[in-house]
Amino acid sequence: MTGKILIVDDDLNILYAFRRQMRSRFSVQTVRNANEALEALERDGPFAVIVADMRMPGMSGVQLLSEFVRRAPDTVRIMFTGHPDKETAADAVNEGNVFRFLAKPCPPDVLGKAIEEAVEEHRRIVAEKEHVSELRESAFTDELTGVGNRRHFLELARHEARRARRSGEPLSAAMLDADNFKKVNDNFGHQVGDEVLRMVARICSENLREADILGRYGGEEFAILLPETDVMAAKDVAERIRKAVAAEVIEAEDGLVRITVSIGVAAGTGKDVEVETLLERADAALYAAKRNGRDRVEMDRDSLLDKRRV
Ligand code: GH3
Ligand code: MG
Ligand code: MG
Repeated sequence: MTGKILIVDDDLNILYAFRRQMRSRFSVQTVRNANEALEALERDGPFAVIVADMRMPGMSGVQLLSEFVRRAPDTVRIMFTGHPDKETAADAVNEGNVFRFLAKPCPPDVLGKAIEEAVEEHRRIVAEKEHVSELRESAFTDELTGVGNRRHFLELARHEARRARRSGEPLSAAMLDADNFKKVNDNFGHQVGDEVLRMVARICSENLREADILGRYGGEEFAILLPETDVMAAKDVAERIRKAVAAEVIEAEDGLVRITVSIGVAAGTGKDVEVETLLERADAALYAAKRNGRDRVEMDRDSLLDKRRV
């Protein structure tokens, strides 16, 4: 599909001719003035291309096209006028940022070619945008699990920490590490290991709120930041995740795979809250959880003291 073309002209003869000439090649919609064009944009948009007459009752073609620049910047703009003076052309280029400027009368093949090129330009603009958003997406997310990568996690987490310093609300962090994960890889293969990591990421997401931040921090390690959450509430969340992971069974070719996770939790409040220190303390608690037998949640001791002081 080539995308829709919107043609705006107050001269009905021109609109009829347009429709006749172009409808076999493009999906054409015609309207008679700028207001109708803006209504059509709201109702039937987006359009790949708009072709606008210059002189129309009410809003001029240049005004209409500059409105399209604001409201639908991806729509490629063609100006079509019976009065091609320099000023009009300059306005069309400067304010309407037009792709082509055509003088009436315009032979159908010239018009057809201009629209074809505009459609191609539109396709290029859309593809470029998609490419950019894919790049951005891949720069922020961990490919395997689809959650944020370490860098993105830290960026969002530092932002939250600034907010917590201003608001005085508590901020909690949790570090989660899969237990004996090497054995999963050794016994079932790397692909099954990957599937387990996706499962852990999914269970974390399912047990977090919209405002919480989750990231894959290392190989089989995930970090979580919980805004406006004290250490006891964070421990509850961690326990929920721990239990949900332990209850999950993955069916692999070589048998059933079960896994547990250990989680360390830390919290802070006040002017000194720093992501790095919170994560360090959560990490220390995580190692206590490993030492104490795995499949458990441990809280950072300072966070508990902090809790009592508040
Ligand atoms: P512990 O309970 O002490 O954490 O033991 P562990 O075996 O989980 O820890 P260790 O650090 O010894 O091993 C982690 C393993 O995770 C080793 C590494 O190959 C594996 N790993 C890291 N990233 C990936 C990944 O993306 N996919 C898979 N399948 N394995 C990974
Ligand atoms: Mg591990
Ligand atoms: Mg590890």
